[in-house]
Amino acid sequence: MAEHVRKRWQLVLIVSPLQGHMTPILQLGTYLHSKGFSITIAHSKINPPNPSNHSDFMFFPMSDNLSRPGDFPSFVEFLQALGDNCKPHLQQHVIQMINTQKDTYVKESIIIIYDNLMSFARTVASELSLPSIIMHCSSAAFFPAYKIIPQLHLEGRFHVEAHFNNQPRRGSESIQNLFEDSLLQEIVPELHPFRYKDLPFANLPIQQALQSVSMITPNTAPSAFIYNTIEFLEPSALTEIHQQYQVPIFTVGPLHKIIPTPSTSFLEEDTSCIPWLNKQSPKSVIYVSLGSIATPDKLLLTQMACGLVNSNLPFLWVVRAGSVHGFKWIEFLPEGLVDETKKRGLIVEWAPQKEVLAHNSVGGFWSHCGRNSVLESVSEGVPMLCQPFSVDQLLNARYLSYEWKMGIEVVWKIGEIEGAIRRLMLGRESEELRQKAMEIREKIQVAIKHGGSSQSSLNDLVDFIIW
Ligand code: UDP
Repeated sequence: MAEHVRKRWQLVLIVSPLQGHMTPILQLGTYLHSKGFSITIAHSKINPPNPSNHSDFMFFPMSDNLSRPGDFPSFVEFLQALGDNCKPHLQQHVIQMINTQKDTYVKESIIIIYDNLMSFARTVASELSLPSIIMHCSSAAFFPAYKIIPQLHLEGRFHVEAHFNNQPRRGSESIQNLFEDSLLQEIVPELHPFRYKDLPFANLPIQQALQSVSMITPNTAPSAFIYNTIEFLEPSALTEIHQQYQVPIFTVGPLHKIIPTPSTSFLEEDTSCIPWLNKQSPKSVIYVSLGSIATPDKLLLTQMACGLVNSNLPFLWVVRAGSVHGFKWIEFLPEGLVDETKKRGLIVEWAPQKEVLAHNSVGGFWSHCGRNSVLESVSEGVPMLCQPFSVDQLLNARYLSYEWKMGIEVVWKIGEIEGAIRRLMLGRESEELRQKAMEIREKIQVAIKHGGSSQSSLNDLVDFIIW
């Protein structure tokens, strides 16, 4: 009988319904499929991936019985409900996979690879005695930064807490004002170079912050970690994770440069911006996007519009339809301001961002510093204007401005926005930022080539799965 037994590997990838998390996992799935693994994507019904873009994968929709993340009082409660509703479906499906094999000569090893936000998958894997690997779509620095929050809280050093006074979540403007506080500007001694103001979950009441930390902290070691990062970018954070869990860490980023995949956008890309970019001078355009989740208020977007117009530079600005509460798109902008924006720039609802950042006309990126946006920008050597809101965006912004020296932090003071835009795009400082960005880009190109750290890490991951 033994000669009839064929051993293969069935990888079940559990993706979360967030754009910035789903994209890298689908890219990883594409890579692993090219190495001969069968791929099943288990996904929630909210924001499902498009199966027609991945005809080689199998898809398993888990009934989540939910509508939208925004319908929950907090994101952590949304994740909790998502996990509670999806877990039995995932469990049933994996049991069915195991049982199906018992009736055939095909012997497959099932391995669970899950987005760190879908932590219920770890429970399913351990209950069925299957190996599980966590995929992190955030920076490695996120781990030490969130892990320290309960300790800081106990010691009365989670300074942001005192300012919020357990008020409900506040708007972007008050968060920016809050960050002006001098105590928050100090470096957390255990987390150099991050400051108290850079800590994740700073915009949440303390109980929600602690709940979020507990939800994303693996209490038992997974079989391994996968990070969409590059080894040279954050070595000390990677060492700390390894010391804590003593399991392999695969640093496989930036996945979008290693594995070109069809668009995974939930929203339709407005490609009309490419012919517009073609008409602009090299490195003259500032590209502006706050990602797929941020819900800025109209005051903030109006200030952004004023800054862009006053900078007198061409810009391509993404404003997601419905991202400002109570408005379909940008009707809240005064008519005169809209007319001014049309003279200098183009506003779209969603752009083909990777193509935009690789375009020769784009000289800078004003960003919320989401993990994917940062990787996409550093991979093209595009310097950044950093406007983080929450979670790991604040850490990414600090890396960009302080550590990698290819970014400028936005300071919200009248007249400073256009100044920051011009510093990013024109003059000596701009050249220095671009030079640093290009140096990082070159190192990334080495990392993704044959024998480079990210390629080697992907090979090691394949070996790890097979063994
Ligand atoms: N993105 C895009 N078009 C846009 C804006 C964003 O394709 O107009 C993509 C971007 O390329 C990135 C993702 O959306 O891959 C945003 O992920 P990120 O981690 O930067 O931020 P998040 O949306 O998770 O806050």
